[in-house]
Amino acid sequence: MKKTDSAFIDDSAIEQVLAAAGKSDGQRVREILAKARLMKGLEAEDMAALASISDPELLGELFNTAKAVKEQIYGKRLVLFAPLYISNMCGNECLYCAFRARNKLVERVALTQEQIAREVRILVEQGHKRILLVAGESYPNEGFNYILKSIATIYATTSGPGEIRRVNVNIAPLSVEEFRQLHDAKIGTYQLFQETYHRQTYRKVHVGGKKVDYDWRVTAMDRALEAGINDVGIGVLFGLCDWRFEILALMQHIRHLEAVHGVGPHTISVPRLEPATGSDMATHPPKPVSDIDFRKIVAILRLAVPYTGIIMSTRETPNMRRETFALGVSQISAGSRTNPGGYTESQDHPDAAQFSLGDHRPLDEVIRDVAELGYIPSFCTGCYRLGRTGKDFMDLAKPGLIKEHCDPNAISTFAEYLIDYASPKTRAMGEAMITKALAQMEPTPRGRAEKLLAAVRSGKRDAYC
Ligand code: SAM
Ligand code: SF4
Repeated sequence: MKKTDSAFIDDSAIEQVLAAAGKSDGQRVREILAKARLMKGLEAEDMAALASISDPELLGELFNTAKAVKEQIYGKRLVLFAPLYISNMCGNECLYCAFRARNKLVERVALTQEQIAREVRILVEQGHKRILLVAGESYPNEGFNYILKSIATIYATTSGPGEIRRVNVNIAPLSVEEFRQLHDAKIGTYQLFQETYHRQTYRKVHVGGKKVDYDWRVTAMDRALEAGINDVGIGVLFGLCDWRFEILALMQHIRHLEAVHGVGPHTISVPRLEPATGSDMATHPPKPVSDIDFRKIVAILRLAVPYTGIIMSTRETPNMRRETFALGVSQISAGSRTNPGGYTESQDHPDAAQFSLGDHRPLDEVIRDVAELGYIPSFCTGCYRLGRTGKDFMDLAKPGLIKEHCDPNAISTFAEYLIDYASPKTRAMGEAMITKALAQMEPTPRGRAEKLLAAVRSGKRDAYC
């Protein structure tokens, strides 16, 4: 395969499957759901059939199956992270994004290393352990080295007992050599969304800059994996093109990665287009995705790729986030700011974030909410720290064994949070939740959890299995 050969996304094969799918009857849907419960994934035809469900009873069955599969693989934990926008300078013209080069309504900022350290300290002091670094595609003064220096700054910044233990990265596609440098900088996941897999739509919405090259973008994960980055995260920006097309194309991408590299994506992200300053397209998405279809997307992806984490950002409202936890979401951002310097600014002007859309509750409140819903908030970075990445992770995730690590690590990192950072109200309800969660666990993970918990209570930090 050439380094930029995108033939694995086969538009006409997808169109054919969608055209043949028609409306699914109850018997066919139930057969597919029974197959999904085996946790071996689904074929494109199965996904198209589930996408066509409109009967409320069948929808309920789809959602219940997704919930069962999610709990089987991931247990009760929900991993939390914070995005860190370091720069909004960008040479591209993505018509849906406020950071696009010709948008004069946004002030351009590339944080200095000191400013990045200040942002990180604020996140650490809130209790965060995982950061997703985000940047536009233009590094004017220092080139790609700016990203490498920023990652080093994040890892080096500490405050009290806290530090950032895993830096994931969402930046423009790189060459193999640059990906090697990113790998050497010890990133966790390299994340990149194709935005739309539909070539014609892609051309219409990306009208300037390097990002116009569909092939260079869709082959980025091949180069990342070749460079030794084991965990890659893919995604679609829903609202640009028909979501049914997008999820089948996403599946072709996954099958390609599995076939060529022996490993699928570590995570899938499901952003929906949100209003953005200076973008008509963001306010009026060409193919809007309704709330009910959005839930279907999460449920179908959970069944189609059971071993892959699904990430939900604060673009969505607290209600939508709550509903999708049950359907398959396993990681969420919390307390997010999406402008460079936003954490520092919101401390200086506490009201500044109030006008934003989606979920802008502080971390402590999100944690309480998550725990009240019966999920264990987790800051775990155990797999990454033990080198349990790529295929090693998948080998545990596929048979549902990863939760024997996830649940104990969730309990120990949640306890760390409660002791070091939580408000009295969250601490009280969190401690009660830990007691309840332990009582419900199987003996092996419970034994592990109790050991880790004892270590955390006696003052140890960063305890994992
Ligand atoms: N510049 C890099 C790129 O485009 O890949 C990475 C940073 S970019 C800010 C991260 C993601 O933000 C994009 O991949 C896109 O999916 C998402 N995004 C851009 N505009 C958006 C909007 N109006 N609503 C929701 N997500 C948006
Ligand atoms: Fe730049 Fe990324 Fe926004 Fe496109 S989506 S304008 S590449 S920051």
